[in-house]
Amino acid sequence: MNFQELEKRVVAFRDERGWAKYHTPKNLAISAAVELGELLEHFQWEGDEEIREAVKDRAKKEAIADEIADVMIYLTLLAHELGIDLDEAVERKLEKNGEKYPIRD
Ligand SMILES: [Mg+2]
Repeated sequence: MNFQELEKRVVAFRDERGWAKYHTPKNLAISAAVELGELLEHFQWEGDEEIREAVKDRAKKEAIADEIADVMIYLTLLAHELGIDLDEAVERKLEKNGEKYPIRD
């Protein structure tokens, strides 16, 4: 699924439920941050090795994947509400990053 397909699916999902009225840019940005907090709860107090070990457990890995997906869904909705094309935005930002941080020999 590319960003455009993802946008179509999450917008359809929320419109079918009548949630669009709650999805102001501010609310969506806050919601993305809240979901990022939920993701970080999985890492709080854990070392890098403990985290790598923990995701070998399927349920734990799925719980983390769920939070990553929640963040992606809210950011996709935020971009939609602001008229931002995510395919273009990510491509453009990668180009900027490449110019800012050139590959060194
Ligand atoms: Mg969540």
